[in-house]
Amino acid sequence: MNKEWNWLKKRADIHPEKTAVIDGESGHKWTYGEVYKKSLSCAKMLEGKGIKSGDRVVLIAPNGVEYLILLFACRELEAIFVPFNWRLTVHELNDLISDCKPVLLFIHPSFLHLQEKLSMDAVAYDVGEWKEDIVFSAGKESLALDQPWMMIYTGGTTGKPKGAVLSYRSVFTNSANTIITWGLSEKDTTLTILPMFHTGGINALTLPVLHAGGTVVIYSQFKPQAILEGLLSYQCTVVLMVPTMYRAFIKLEDFQKETFPHMDVFLSGGAPCPVSIYDAFEGKGLPFKEGYGLTEAGPNNFFIDPSVAKKKRGSVGKPMLLNDVKLLNKRGNEVKCGEIGEMVIFGDHLFQYYWQKEEETKKAVRNGGLHTGDLAYQDQDGDFFILGRKKEMLISGGENVYPIEIENILSAYPGLLEAAVVGLPDEKWGEKVVCAVALEGLDQGDKHTDQLLQAFCREKLAGYKVPKEFYLMEELPKTHVGKIDKKAIVEHVQNSRL
Ligand code: ATP
Repeated sequence: MNKEWNWLKKRADIHPEKTAVIDGESGHKWTYGEVYKKSLSCAKMLEGKGIKSGDRVVLIAPNGVEYLILLFACRELEAIFVPFNWRLTVHELNDLISDCKPVLLFIHPSFLHLQEKLSMDAVAYDVGEWKEDIVFSAGKESLALDQPWMMIYTGGTTGKPKGAVLSYRSVFTNSANTIITWGLSEKDTTLTILPMFHTGGINALTLPVLHAGGTVVIYSQFKPQAILEGLLSYQCTVVLMVPTMYRAFIKLEDFQKETFPHMDVFLSGGAPCPVSIYDAFEGKGLPFKEGYGLTEAGPNNFFIDPSVAKKKRGSVGKPMLLNDVKLLNKRGNEVKCGEIGEMVIFGDHLFQYYWQKEEETKKAVRNGGLHTGDLAYQDQDGDFFILGRKKEMLISGGENVYPIEIENILSAYPGLLEAAVVGLPDEKWGEKVVCAVALEGLDQGDKHTDQLLQAFCREKLAGYKVPKEFYLMEELPKTHVGKIDKKAIVEHVQNSRL
């Protein structure tokens, strides 16, 4: 296959009146016909501003239908859609501007105060002005699949965000893979609360559900109660959230009361999911499972049936139908069952390259496989278990220590909200295992807490894995996409020891 056929137009031709997008907060709906026509009207405006093939068009906006309209408008002109993380500081936004050199930058009216501080002119827009009767003439029927379509910046968990360029092939393959393997159809409705500038909010479910002809309910603010009510009132069937969001969600009184009759599955991804969240869903008999994803590959890569996920907590299951994952050792050979290796991903869903980072691209993609930097092992059934990032593995007293194993044990400690294990340089051990924790309803200054935590770990873990020091924090620091920020934790721990 080497062409992308205008699938949004096809969806709009098949069922123009079907609801494609709902603004969850206001209840406003857009049909497939409306989204398609608005994208043509927006394309005409882009053309008027001189946008050509390969130009970068940036959007700074909270989650909203404009992400989709601009994305499809860019398709008409073969431009590259680049959503920026609006939570970044002006300094960081200007860094991204000098990285991707946009030709146009659209800014949501609520961010107009940034306009003066940005290093290029920003165009304020109003979705209502992209009128459905202003039609762009070309309406491209087909495009080369290898044409770049969007550039998504990575989460920046390990360093500065990198712009991952995704082609129509990458996006389409991820959607097809997700639809076939996870069984999505036009009957599905998803709720999108993960940021749409991030792969989790745009590629994990939003575009696959639209490819499948379903409905996407978009929320711009994470208010746990409103999300719960949205899942019920819009009769959603599938949702993806990060563990931080689930932690707040399962504490709601209504979570205990409701049965969520329309939900096929609750999905968690982006970071390791604590066992306590599995417990909360299992306790209610609700289907819950974990996915593993990354910007450069899909993000979707694995499938696990909720009944298997229940038995094998923490497993992401097996590679999906249209991709493969191998576990390789340092010499590039596949490891045996039960042995730990680096996950290397293969498939047409892989990104094309990091924007203007040729060396980093060559390092990441070798022999056709994306070297993820994440460690995992497979059990005897071929199910994968993720052990976290290679960079986060510690070597203490000559032994490998995987933070996730310790964090999982600690997640069962009564009242523990969050735990993050990091390593500190140490003369005796090489690296010393230390842990930052946030606890509920406990006096943060209680002297005995660290002893109790240590004793709890000692019962279940080998001595070299038990954290030597615990640091109590009110809340663990998060990155801009809501993942626990281990770099900030190391800094905090080092500062508290001064
Ligand atoms: P950067 O590459 O800029 O440091 P990032 O790695 O957070 O940021 P993303 O693409 O947002 O970029 O996240 C992908 C990473 O998230 C994966 O490589 C993996 O380390 C982690 N991850 C995703 N899902 C899971 C999961 N279920 N369990 C453990 N880790 C996960």
